Amino acid sequence: MNKRRHCLFTNDVETTSIWLNTLRDETGLKVLEEGMPILLDIYNEFNIISTFYFTGYIAKLFPDVVKMIIKDGHEVASHGKSHLPENGFDVMPFEKQKRHLEETKKLLEDISGQEVISFRAPALRVNNETVRALIETGHKIDSSVASQRFDFFLSFGGFKKLKWFTAPRLPYKVDPNNIFKKGNSDLVEVPLSALFLPYVGTTMRIFPTITALQRHGINFESKLNNKPVVFDVHPNEFIDESDEIRIVNKRSKNPIDFFLKDWLRSHLKIKNLGPAAIPLYKKEIQFYKDRGYKFTTVKQYCIENQLI
Ligand SMILES: [Zn+2]
Repeated sequence: MNKRRHCLFTNDVETTSIWLNTLRDETGLKVLEEGMPILLDIYNEFNIISTFYFTGYIAKLFPDVVKMIIKDGHEVASHGKSHLPENGFDVMPFEKQKRHLEETKKLLEDISGQEVISFRAPALRVNNETVRALIETGHKIDSSVASQRFDFFLSFGGFKKLKWFTAPRLPYKVDPNNIFKKGNSDLVEVPLSALFLPYVGTTMRIFPTITALQRHGINFESKLNNKPVVFDVHPNEFIDESDEIRIVNKRSKNPIDFFLKDWLRSHLKIKNLGPAAIPLYKKEIQFYKDRGYKFTTVKQYCIENQLI
């Protein structure tokens, strides 16, 4: 067992425009040309490797967005087919989940020449059948569970995520019928770090002070139980689309949902978007660098700790 503490700083690569609260190809192009180079420069500066979860949609649209991470030794991983609400793994039937997993895995492997074994569900939406769908399509590691993260009511697929409440915090083999429980299946769950609020780029940008407190708590926990620090950031958080007129698209049906999930979220989520996010993210990395953490990919972490 490797006793050195680990940081798994992960990236979800997709065509979501945070500024416009919608999915669009133009944002995908900005992710390729602006967001990804910014992230890769940061990782080069700190000499670290990480895992990139790509939607099949952006990989097909811009294969270079996948190819550009290879030479630096980062891991190519799957983020499902796309972020369209109907492609959420909590609403798709089993066979459709399998098809999306198979197609995205093959696409990413063809582009990258790497075997793809890690998965993170779009918007972290999964259901009880996702475990079997992942195993049957050759995936070995999931990272869609955010144990003890309490903002589920703000996100899509909200109340199904109540199960985060009781999910284990340390990496675990999942129950074949329940991704939120320990069991004896061949799938390993590497939970995202959370301390009340998610430990992600969004929190870092909107509430930098809360994230400063979170990192001390997360570091403390890791000292106690060796839990890997799993952070989640998006290259689309580093792009600037503020020259475009902003209309909040209405995705929710009822007015309360519209206020919580569309209006409130989209007004909060634009804080420190673009280049302003760069120094915040560097500060996050530096904190763990100063404390001797080893930064690695999710796959490499699981291999080194004999989880797969
Ligand atoms: Zn995503």
